Amino acid sequence: MKALVYHGTKSVSVDKVIDAKIEKPTDVVVKIATTNICGSDLHMYEGRTNVKKGTVLGHENLGRVEEVGKAVDTVKVGDYVCLPFNIGCGFCANCERGLTGFCLTCAEPGSAGAAYGFAGMGPYSGGQAEYLRVPYADFNCLQLPEDVKQKENDYVMLSDIFPTGWHATELAGIQPGDSVVIYGAGPVGLMAGISANIRGASQVMIVDQHPDRLKLAKECGAIAIDDSKGGAVEKVLALTDGLGADCGCEAVGYQCQDHHGHEVPNLTMNNLVKSVKATGGIGVVGVFLPKDPGAADDMAKKGQIAFDFGTFWFKGQKIKTGQANVKAYNRKLRDLITAGKAKPSIIISHELPLDQAPEAYKNFDDRKNGWTKVILKPAA
Ligand code: NAD
Ligand code: ZN
Repeated sequence: MKALVYHGTKSVSVDKVIDAKIEKPTDVVVKIATTNICGSDLHMYEGRTNVKKGTVLGHENLGRVEEVGKAVDTVKVGDYVCLPFNIGCGFCANCERGLTGFCLTCAEPGSAGAAYGFAGMGPYSGGQAEYLRVPYADFNCLQLPEDVKQKENDYVMLSDIFPTGWHATELAGIQPGDSVVIYGAGPVGLMAGISANIRGASQVMIVDQHPDRLKLAKECGAIAIDDSKGGAVEKVLALTDGLGADCGCEAVGYQCQDHHGHEVPNLTMNNLVKSVKATGGIGVVGVFLPKDPGAADDMAKKGQIAFDFGTFWFKGQKIKTGQANVKAYNRKLRDLITAGKAKPSIIISHELPLDQAPEAYKNFDDRKNGWTKVILKPAA
């Protein structure tokens, strides 16, 4: 089959690889209809993780079930399913509490959490390919309703960014009436904005430096805070009577940049401490990793940042972090899409065949104007 393979820093190509197949009786094989490129793929693309060369990337996947293992009960050939980016077993101590982003069974030994085509999250191949092997299929497959053909581009966002945006608002503890500041107007930050509005936030502010992304922030019902000349914190304070927002979300991660385009890994975290009110909650879904081989200094190489803990402590704020437990939310978020109450596809900028994935990676990675979210159609 054809698949998008990582060969090294900024080097990916569509190659012939071994077909995805049933390896355990609890597996299914899915023929991929839609698979997205994610901001998380860019950390790997840029050589800023320890992902192995030869890995097939792609963790935002939707498709039609082609083959079913002997022990699979509920999933049938022909079903359209969306796959959470994190792979869970459903029966370990974390999965049974809904913490499927930290599955102990599917993770690498001594670790928690597994995913398709992802650094440090197990040996699983990604879905930027014609076919994908799905472990523990009864648990992982989210069944899609009959309107899947019309709403495929919405439902595919249930694999990651919509639940991840929701997770950011959950971690931040957003309650109806709260004001919220979100750093990052990439796909995840925009989904956090949509989620905050669904949860009844009174004021949603999204910070970024790119005009195309800020425009989308407005379309998602947020106040766009332009940080292209700096000053985001002051702008948020001015909009919140000098107190700061009730809650904050981090949707950028360790590769965040200042307005001169220089990477400053502690910038968004410290900006959140400054622009969230005393006692406010902060949800961090932007990725921070234990090792960054491409980092500029020794501290960042070990995944450490100079965090403004004094101010954070003094303000009595709370932080929660981590991979989204997609399965905790994807069923209900699917129902919002089915009911026409959420339309996450509005952020899609490009719909391309798999063969054009390498140039899509380049343009998305360059944050080229207008390249906000790329979805690939391997079966087209
Ligand atoms: P993206 O790279 O497309 O978007 C990041 C955005 O942040 C860009 O628009 C960029 O301009 C902006 N940005 C950079 N520096 C900034 C700063 N100082 N202040 C404000 N904005 C700044 O990525 P994405 O797909 O939206 O993903 C965002 C992050 O979420 C990534 O780190 C990704 O790996 C992570 N992620 C986490 C999970 C999870 O489960 N926790 C899931 C998916 C993605
Ligand atoms: Zn993703």
